[in-house]
Amino acid sequence: MLNVVIFGPPGSGKGTQSQKIIEKYGLTHISTGDLLRREIHTNTHLGVIAKSYIDRGELVPDETIIEMLDHFMDNLPKVKGIIFDGFPRTVIQAEAFQKMLKNNNTSLSVMLNLEVDRQELIDRLLLRGETSGRSDDNLETITKRLEVYENRTSPVISFYKEVKLYQAIKGMGSVDEIFQGICTVLDKHLEQ
Ligand code: ADP
Repeated sequence: MLNVVIFGPPGSGKGTQSQKIIEKYGLTHISTGDLLRREIHTNTHLGVIAKSYIDRGELVPDETIIEMLDHFMDNLPKVKGIIFDGFPRTVIQAEAFQKMLKNNNTSLSVMLNLEVDRQELIDRLLLRGETSGRSDDNLETITKRLEVYENRTSPVISFYKEVKLYQAIKGMGSVDEIFQGICTVLDKHLEQ
């Protein structure tokens, strides 16, 4: 299986690039943000809890996210590979994820880190906010999300460097240029 984590700060283009990866490589997509927004939309118990964190720009608690991922993995039919978008977002999640993959007799192929300057992230998120309808795409929440990213999510980079699955991707430029960088890495993995 080609299992890929697409990683990066809010606004780095994880969702956009995931769509292109899915089209080209036939991977199955899991976005924890999309799953949570679906729960909010259908007003489930999990959705009500998640909304209070998301609207403040905070992370949803690890146990909740890990449980959600476990459920997804347990109900997964046979697939070519999976792209994990927005997960893992803390070192605790990354550790639980390693165990989860092992229990399912599979492993991670690579972690792709989309590198984008801070000002570009803010500009992209504010622009997205004009049309996305997302309650967290406003300047105050964006600033909070970037702070949470620095403090809680960026340590995940060292975790993947240590297990030798880390790959930096230039996340600035056109969507197609960035995708080209990703394809070079994924094609190498497919040759192996
Ligand atoms: P972005 O990467 O643009 O912030 P996402 O859709 O990935 O957008 O996430 C939106 C929000 O959902 C996050 O700010 C966070 O509150 C919550 N969330 C998503 N994934 C996770 C996760 N793995 N752990 C904790 N919270 C999460």
